[in-house]
Amino acid sequence: MSTAAIRPLSSSDVLVVGSGAAGLMTAVALADAGRAVTVITKGALGEGSTAWAQGGLAAVLGPDDRAGLHVQDTLVAGAGLCGVEAVRTLVAEAPAAVATLRELGAVLDLGRDGCPALTREGGHSRDRIVHADGDASGAEVTRTLTGALRARGVAVLEHTAAVDALRTADGRVVGLRVARIGPGGALAKPEELRSRAVVLATGGFGQVFSATSSPAGATGDGVALALRAGAEVADVEMVQFHPTVLWAGPGAEGQQMLVSEAVRGEGAVLVDAGGRRIMPGRHPLADLAPRDVVSAAIAAFLAEAPPGERDHVWLDARHLGADHLARRFPGILRACRSAGYDPAREPVPVAPAAHYTCGGVLADLDGGTGVPGLYAVGEVACTGVHGANRLASNSITEGLVAARRCAATLAAALPSGGVPVAGPNPVAIDPGARRAMTLAASRFAGIVRDSAGLTRLAAALAAVPRLPAGCAQDLATLEATALHTVATVLCAAALAREESRGCHRRTDAPATRPEWRVRLVHRLDPAGGLHTRTVPVGNVRPVPEHVVA
Ligand SMILES: Cc1cc2nc3c(=O)[nH]c(=O)nc-3n(C[C@H](O)[C@H](O)[C@H](O)COP(=O)(O)OP(=O)(O)OC[C@H]3O[C@@H](n4cnc5c(N)ncnc54)[C@H](O)[C@@H]3O)c2cc1C
Repeated sequence: MSTAAIRPLSSSDVLVVGSGAAGLMTAVALADAGRAVTVITKGALGEGSTAWAQGGLAAVLGPDDRAGLHVQDTLVAGAGLCGVEAVRTLVAEAPAAVATLRELGAVLDLGRDGCPALTREGGHSRDRIVHADGDASGAEVTRTLTGALRARGVAVLEHTAAVDALRTADGRVVGLRVARIGPGGALAKPEELRSRAVVLATGGFGQVFSATSSPAGATGDGVALALRAGAEVADVEMVQFHPTVLWAGPGAEGQQMLVSEAVRGEGAVLVDAGGRRIMPGRHPLADLAPRDVVSAAIAAFLAEAPPGERDHVWLDARHLGADHLARRFPGILRACRSAGYDPAREPVPVAPAAHYTCGGVLADLDGGTGVPGLYAVGEVACTGVHGANRLASNSITEGLVAARRCAATLAAALPSGGVPVAGPNPVAIDPGARRAMTLAASRFAGIVRDSAGLTRLAAALAAVPRLPAGCAQDLATLEATALHTVATVLCAAALAREESRGCHRRTDAPATRPEWRVRLVHRLDPAGGLHTRTVPVGNVRPVPEHVVA
């Protein structure tokens, strides 16, 4: 743990919150542009979802690939809600983002021709996923970027939580209240760090659900902080459930081990207890259909399975052979074997779990949120790239592209800064309620939803106990409060969207309805009231808080 005192006020042009791919890349690019930047991160440097990524990064690099195909695949997966311009920008800039990573020292797996080896994942019409050390792509991204950050001498506050934004009287963000995290999650008294800009790169909110592939810190802190700071959030109901996490027994909770889609990309198939394949006939791409389709197919299959067989299916990778599995998926093979399964000899039990949050803080691909001084990049942001369902391996790429663009924006000009005024004391949620909240979210707002269940979830969330005002905060309280804020918005959005589209499946509204080809955009008023607007796809621009009626 870093023991340095929190740096004095006004030492940074930019505060970057988070040290996954998006935060690290933003900070590295800002340092290269000569900006004074400080990275604030909840755990040790580099902890976050990025480090867990297995599959890799999508970019058009193959001789048979074209930008138009990557755009098309992304739009198809996004089920009508993608912002086409954002997708085009992502695809156009993805190869340069991968090249930058290599220039910074990333060692990618190479093919016989010496070029990055490319693999395929669900929803991709070409091989376009670059990867590292087989299935340790995120670890290599993290190693590369943390090394680059250290080489540039960027200031880092590890084990420090961003608590709230500092705002001027007219609503501009001019810094952060941060608190050092002590033993057992105790928070030191928050201190003020002033800056000209704050970049949120805090990742997603998979921990809203009881079972997720996301690490423990993915509690939606950035989304909740941005809402309190006057920013809007969008597409929050679009939570991607990954079809294959290693099933860890009935009622397994918390972070679950992912079995990458790349395993299916290389030929593994989903089967039932009798070895019969599940996906053929459900989608033309069968096991490589987009994730929303495969997860929903598994949920439907399990709902009709005999009692006792309703909590998992099987992934059969035996025909890939032990050598190929060891070479291509060493980490997954190790994890399966330590859980008591040998994928080279037997199908392994898998189940869907919350994996990626397509929605988040409404931002453009330059990170702009509409609130002056506040930026959001990576999974915390909702740029419209993913629409109603993210295409596999587009997210680290998106984080890198947005980070580079955001840094270029802030290198060109910094917001004006200003003097903060005291903000309201936000309501805090009793962390003892967290487990009940996440169980209810999984039960009522998981892969399949309906109005009755979502109404029960809304009531449960409204009844969650609050802590008395002025009660000392700890990390558990900060995270439970963020989870509660995010779950409340998610539930409201899922209830409002009376259709099924992408990651949002309503059994009481199973059709995709053309009139719902809109995005749901939310903000909180100063009293905590939730306001929602619908915006046609393509017209979504973050709206500065002071012009929202
Ligand atoms: C198991 C797994 C496998 C995946 N595989 C792939 C893949 O192969 N390809 C792909 O493209 N995507 C993959 N994804 C998704 C991808 O990893 C993430 O979307 C992406 O890495 C997010 O990067 P990020 O920088 O936005 O956030 P993260 O990497 O999650 O980093 C968030 C950072 O914010 C910090 N933070 C959060 N709250 C606070 C706070 N209050 N104060 C201070 N710091 C805070 C965290 O500590 C962390 O450092 C995978 C995700 C998981 C979970």
